[in-house]
Amino acid sequence: MQLDVELKKSFKNFTLDVAFHLSSPRTGIFGPSGSGKSTIMNLLSGLELPDSGYIRLGDAVLFDAKKKINLKPDQRNVGVVFQHAHLFPHMSVKRNIFYGYKRVKLENRRIDPDGLFKVLGITQLLSRDVSTLSGGERQRIALARTVLSNPQLILMDEPLSALDEGHKFQIIPYLKNVFDNYGIPMIFISHSVLEMRMMTDEVLMIQKGRVLQHGATEELVKKSWGRGLESYVNLIH
Ligand code: ADP
Ligand code: MG
Repeated sequence: MQLDVELKKSFKNFTLDVAFHLSSPRTGIFGPSGSGKSTIMNLLSGLELPDSGYIRLGDAVLFDAKKKINLKPDQRNVGVVFQHAHLFPHMSVKRNIFYGYKRVKLENRRIDPDGLFKVLGITQLLSRDVSTLSGGERQRIALARTVLSNPQLILMDEPLSALDEGHKFQIIPYLKNVFDNYGIPMIFISHSVLEMRMMTDEVLMIQKGRVLQHGATEELVKKSWGRGLESYVNLIH
C-alpha cells in the first residue's frame, strides 16, 4: 500500500492538520479519544470533505484541493468497518452481506463468497437473523460485506471497541485471516496499545489533530510507553 496524505480540516472547536505516508499493508492510527482518528477515516473514505490537501492511494488521486479532484465514496475503492456493524437487524446474515453486492462491478467480484465465509467462520450463521448474533459475529459479517466489494484498502474504525474482552480476542485471528488470505491492505484505528501490537506493523500516533509520532509499531511501543505498561502489555500479549 502506498498512501500519501496531506489534510487540513477545521471544525468549530477542533483542527486536524496532518501529513503522512503509509506503506505497510497493516498500519494503524492510534490516539486518545477526540484526537481526530475518525475524522481522518471520514476524510479518507470521502464521508467528509477536507478544507485543503490531497489523498493519493497508489496511482489514484482520491482528493486534491488544488486540482479540484474529489472522488465520491463509492468511486474510491476504500472499504470501511465501523465500531458498530451497521447491519439491518431483521434481515438474515446472507441478505445483509449481499445487500449492495449487485452494485459491485463484475470485474471487481474477485473474491469467492463461500471461501470468504469460511475464512471468517460465518458459514453456519448465514441463515440467522442479525438480531440473534453477538457483537463479534456482527463485526465479522460487516467485514464480509466490505471485503466482497473487493476494496483496495480497508479502514477499520475501532472495530473491537464495542466488544467485551473475550469476543475482542476471538475476532482478531479472523481479521488476520482476511488479511493473510486476500492481502487487502488495512488501516486499523484504535486507542488500545494491545490491539495496535496485535494488528499492525506500522503506526501513526496522533494527538490533538496532529501527528505525534510515526514508525514501526514495536519500536514506538518501546519508545513511548514506560516499563510499567510494557510489562503489562507483554503479560497479556
Ligand atoms: P476520535 O475518533 O479520535 O475520537 P474524532 O475524529 O471523532 O476523534 O473527533 C475529533 C474532534 O473533532 C472532536 O473534538 C470532535 O468533537 C470534533 N468533530 C468531529 N466531527 C465533527 C463534526 N462533524 N462537526 C464538529 N466537530 C466535529
Ligand atoms: Mg473515533
